[in-house]
Amino acid sequence: MTTPTQRPTCVNCDREVVAEYRPFCSRRCADVDLGRWFNESYTIPAVEPPDEWDEE
Ligand SMILES: [Zn+2]
Repeated sequence: MTTPTQRPTCVNCDREVVAEYRPFCSRRCADVDLGRWFNESYTIPAVEPPDEWDEE
């Protein structure tokens, strides 16, 4: 296991991380990931699929 230069990669797109936006490669990726995380955290307690509505 020899990794000469193990650079951190963007958790969103696997590109090289920019220190300013760690752990992302860009502001966009930071926003995207944050948005996704935010959405998921909002989706979890969301309403269940309305299966019952099909009964009518
Ligand atoms: Zn990225």
